[in-house]
This record gives sequence, C-alpha cells and structure tokens, in this order.
Amino acid sequence: MTGKDLRGIGMTSQRTRDRLIQRLREEGIENATVLDVIRNIPRHIFVDEALSHRAYEDTALPIGHGQTLSQPYIVARMTELLLAEGPRKRVLEIGTGSGYQTAVLAQLVEQLFTVERIRPLQDKARQRLRLLKANNVQFKHADGGMGWPEHGPFDGILVTAAPEAVPVELIEQLSIGGRLVIPVGGGNRQQLELITKTPEGISTEVIEDVRFVPLLAGAIR
Ligand code: SAH
Repeated sequence: MTGKDLRGIGMTSQRTRDRLIQRLREEGIENATVLDVIRNIPRHIFVDEALSHRAYEDTALPIGHGQTLSQPYIVARMTELLLAEGPRKRVLEIGTGSGYQTAVLAQLVEQLFTVERIRPLQDKARQRLRLLKANNVQFKHADGGMGWPEHGPFDGILVTAAPEAVPVELIEQLSIGGRLVIPVGGGNRQQLELITKTPEGISTEVIEDVRFVPLLAGAIR
C-alpha cells in the first residue's frame, strides 16, 4: 500500500468521500470533528480490494468470518455519542473487526484499547492501524465481553457487536462520568443504548434501532 493508494482515485477519491460526508450530515450527524475524521480516513483500505469501489457508500460491508464493517452512519453516530460530553482519555472498544471504527476513535481519544475475538481479523486491523500511524492503540485477542480490567476504568466504552444484555463487567469498568455506547438485544435487530455512570448509579438512554452481528463468547484463532 502506497501513499497514492491511501489517497485514493476514482470511486475512492476525495470527491467520493466528500459526498459521504454530505450524506452523513443529512442523516443528522452534527459533530464537525467526527465528520472531518471520517472524511480523512481511507475506508477503502479496510475492505477487500474487490469491494473498494463501494467503500464510501453509506452501507455495511463484509470483512470475512461472517463479520461486517459497520455502516459509516452508525460509526459516526456512536462516536458522536461517546464524545458528546467532552473529550475521552481512556477508551475501550469491543469488536475491532476491520479496525475502521478503531481508526476513527484513535484520532479522537487519548488512549484506545481494542479487543477482538477472531485472530485473523485482529492481525489485519493491526497492520492497517500501523499504516495509518495510529500509535495510541493497544490490541487484545480475547472475549471482550469481559472488558479489559487491567486497563480500566475507562471514561468511554464502545461496543460494535450486540449482547442480549449489557455485560456487568463493562459497567464495572466504566469510570464515574463514563459513557458506554452499545447495541443491545437478541436476533438481528437491536437497540443502540447510551449508558452513563453517575455517582448515584447508571442511567440508560435508548437511541435508535440498529442492526449488529452478535457479541459471541470465547476467543477463536
Ligand atoms: N467495528 C468493526 C465492526 C466489526 S463487526 C469494524 O469497524 O469493522 C463486530 C466485531 O465484533 C467482529 O469482528 C466480531 O468478531 C467481534 N466480536 C464479536 N463478539 C466479540 C467478543 N465477545 N469479543 C470481542 N470481539 C467480538
């Protein structure tokens, strides 16, 4: 991958990317910093070359192993929710997948910890993040439903696969004032929830209906 590949041409060009940003604005994404980061990250390097011409469509794309790279709208929405009450210092991401959401977060938070249960996906994500010089990211191959207690508490946690119920470990690893953005529910339709930890306990806000792959137990090689 060269500098030219990162910039993109034709269907991966800056003009194509600008159209995606316009669309995200129309869909209600307001955080200009988040939009700028999405405009600048080459999403086409996170999918197979055969799919790169679709990388700037506002759609989820397959990344192998039965997993998908989330739709740009949902990446933007979750990131915006995470950052809505100010910058985050230590953030945990569950479900690295292609590493695209990881790359977006890496530019917006101080330190990022990301967990993936499928080793080959993690390996590819790690290479892409290195190419983009994201030096503030630590990777772990594990079942992220347990969080990453050694590095907690976190002032932000973002989960990109859906559990049937919110894992207590994740709530425990949230600091006071911390925000957890997570799709919740069984089947193939869930609700995106924003959970905030306060000195009095936790509060939950249901944001909108979403569609994610399930959060599965155990790690696989
Ligand atoms: N954010 C990713 C989306 C990947 S799809 C991207 O932008 O590409 C969800 C990912 O969550 C998949 O890679 C899946 O393997 C992973 N996943 C599912 N259950 C998990 C678990 N318990 N721990 C860690 N990762 C998990």
